[in-house]
Amino acid sequence: MILTAADNPQVRRVVSKHGMRLGGSRFVAGETIDDAVRALRELNDKGLYANTTMLGEGVRDEGEARAVAAHYVTLVDRLADEELRANVALKLTHLGLELGEDAAYENVRAVVQRAQDRAAFIRIDMEQSPFVDATLRIYRRLRESGLDAVGTVLQAYLYRTEPDLESLLPLQPNLRLVKGAYLEAPDVAYPKKTDVDAAYVRLLETMLGGGGYTAIATHDEAIIEHAIRFATEHAIANERFEFQMLYGVRPQLQLDLAARGYKVLVATPYGPEWYPYLMRRLGERPANALFLLRNLARG
Ligand SMILES: Cc1cc2nc3c(=O)[nH]c(=O)nc-3n(C[C@H](O)[C@H](O)[C@H](O)COP(=O)(O)OP(=O)(O)OC[C@H]3O[C@@H](n4cnc5c(N)ncnc54)[C@H](O)[C@@H]3O)c2cc1C
Repeated sequence: MILTAADNPQVRRVVSKHGMRLGGSRFVAGETIDDAVRALRELNDKGLYANTTMLGEGVRDEGEARAVAAHYVTLVDRLADEELRANVALKLTHLGLELGEDAAYENVRAVVQRAQDRAAFIRIDMEQSPFVDATLRIYRRLRESGLDAVGTVLQAYLYRTEPDLESLLPLQPNLRLVKGAYLEAPDVAYPKKTDVDAAYVRLLETMLGGGGYTAIATHDEAIIEHAIRFATEHAIANERFEFQMLYGVRPQLQLDLAARGYKVLVATPYGPEWYPYLMRRLGERPANALFLLRNLARG
């Protein structure tokens, strides 16, 4: 319901005006790079790793897409100059994927090249199902051109993900595994949460056993404990995986896992284009929407 409401212009107007003040700032570090740098340093000081992203998606203007890529190059430099333990995540539709695959490829290549030069790392997020093919092709193209400072994401809710993973494994990929955050039709994605969770566990085991690097991105404690047990039983070294969670979600669990010696990365976005990101976070957990509505009622 929340993901459907997100497209309603009235909802957009009200949330865009009041959302940050009413609690959205729990999920977003702020609007500028300086805000992000402050939040990333705080996370690093607590023993957590981080990644950051300038929020935005669906850019359909060539000049704007190039400007977004230039911003990301600046961001890579800034994180390296500040010696933060933080990498960068980005969305290909923010870099012009809807204008054409080549345009997005050229833009992301410039960012990944700079990351490789600065010993940094770029994660290409996964968006709605119509973008999956192009995203995986661009990821392969980057790897085939000799760039290794890049990884991408697979979504457990899509039926196609098991074969996608099998075909990526020979690249020894660095993959983030997520359940999936978008509204998808039942002909492409499991409608039932229990099926998504079961697919996540199957994919997780294949990834961990597969020889690449696995970013286990979930707040689901049962799955996290399963991953730890599986890694222990199969002698998979801690250096081969990490846990990832979202800024503002289960902060104590993040610290507890770090205290147990696991690498935990907190995905920490910033930027003025926070509306769709915030709506996806509310959609994942209706209690978050109630939290905002309660604050609205309090004025
Ligand atoms: C680091 C990271 C990167 C991601 N990147 C992508 C991506 O590229 N593409 C994509 O489609 N999706 C992405 N996602 C979102 C993901 O697909 C899920 O929508 C999201 O993680 C919620 O699912 P869950 O695995 O935490 O499990 P769930 O079963 O949904 O939740 C497990 C428990 O976690 C807590 N929880 C979950 N979400 C929230 C929330 N928003 N607020 C408060 N508590 C919550 C609740 O206690 C819940 O009971 C990403 C998620 C993370 C953590």
